[in-house]
Amino acid sequence: MNDPTLEDTETEFRNSVRAFVDKEIRPNATRWDLEERYPQELLRRFGELGWLGTAFPEEVGGSGGGAVHYALLCAELARGSSAIALGAYVHTALASAALFHLGSEAQKQRWLPEALSGRKIGCWAYAEAGAGSDVSSVQTRARREGGDYVLNGAKLYITNSTFANFMVVVASTNPEQGLKGLSLFIVERDNPGISVGAPLNKLGMGASEMAEIVFDDCRVNEDRRLGPENAGFLMAMKVLTLGRIASAAFGVGASWAALRESQEYTRQRVQFGKPLIAQQFVRFTLADMATRMEAAWQLTLHAARLVDAGLPFDREASMAKLFATETCTWAAERCLHLCGVQGYMRESVAQRLYRDCKVLELGEGTSEIQRETIARLLGE
Ligand SMILES: Cc1cc2nc3c(=O)[nH]c(=O)nc-3n(C[C@H](O)[C@H](O)[C@H](O)COP(=O)(O)OP(=O)(O)OC[C@H]3O[C@@H](n4cnc5c(N)ncnc54)[C@H](O)[C@@H]3O)c2cc1C
Repeated sequence: MNDPTLEDTETEFRNSVRAFVDKEIRPNATRWDLEERYPQELLRRFGELGWLGTAFPEEVGGSGGGAVHYALLCAELARGSSAIALGAYVHTALASAALFHLGSEAQKQRWLPEALSGRKIGCWAYAEAGAGSDVSSVQTRARREGGDYVLNGAKLYITNSTFANFMVVVASTNPEQGLKGLSLFIVERDNPGISVGAPLNKLGMGASEMAEIVFDDCRVNEDRRLGPENAGFLMAMKVLTLGRIASAAFGVGASWAALRESQEYTRQRVQFGKPLIAQQFVRFTLADMATRMEAAWQLTLHAARLVDAGLPFDREASMAKLFATETCTWAAERCLHLCGVQGYMRESVAQRLYRDCKVLELGEGTSEIQRETIARLLGE
């Protein structure tokens, strides 16, 4: 993340996010995790600072930049807290990006400026009890009735849903067609027929909130459909390019946090008359952490640069996501190990990282889905 190949604007941007994260997020991250609430005022601040508009053009209220800027933002936020980064990511790279890429001019004008300034927050409602990696098993129905659609079904594990003002919902408009019958809708939270459950209890990512959303005869006008009927989700999969790169960047940021915590702890912890860091085993572990983190960052940066250059990036994005998220799970486990029982205590940074990191391997396509993608793209 201290890459000398970054352009000046990228370095400046990274430095401004880093300063904010060090002052406002890192000192509070474990408290927010234990309180199990997302500090929503942060999203408003991110909006005012222009960060929610990263990688969106200025014409729609964005602040420009591309995939590299977005990767830097995600990595820096995750240095402070993966949970905070997750909430910002779902709002920008999923909900707002779907609106930007698939929305009509009228839809964009109506919702995007508010979304990118942080005045309105969105969530991405895809997953269901029966629909995880297998997208074709979505059961939520959007039945046409004249000029309206009527939504029925339940979405599960939806990040930000407890406080979101709008949701981008994946629903089937043609159940016989499976994946080719899925459409996207933008639905406001106060639309009748929507109920959001209590926050779900999770192993980690305490500061991010997720819940179930139930649609019970939720009627929306057809002007709420994003993109073409039956093809909205497939189009979204092609244009929502930043998901795996953002996840990879989260892995890099969380690995950095694990390395930093390990260094700080082993410098000050004295056993057998000397600091732990004087032990070769400890120094080798720190060296391995730094090496793997650097490799993860270079894969992430490479994939992001391909996106910005308009070149194929599918294989590289999957490699970056796979490697960086598995790296941070490993690094967090080693960090907890090095911090000993003090790391195991509920107030420690090490235990939070340990609980937060695993899920990065699951979201945005699990490690197995990434390996399938990479293997498919290996060619001859
Ligand atoms: C913290 C968090 C936040 C989330 N936020 C959101 C959100 O905002 N919106 C949303 O829509 N969803 C969200 N989700 C849900 C997420 O979309 C799902 O977790 C994801 O789609 C994976 O589905 P699953 O967990 O049900 O796993 P499954 O698909 O049931 O997979 C279980 C295991 O089987 C493996 N597996 C599955 N298929 C194959 C295969 N073909 N080959 C080999 N292995 C396979 C997987 O790799 C995994 O190890 C969130 C989840 C978490 C944990």
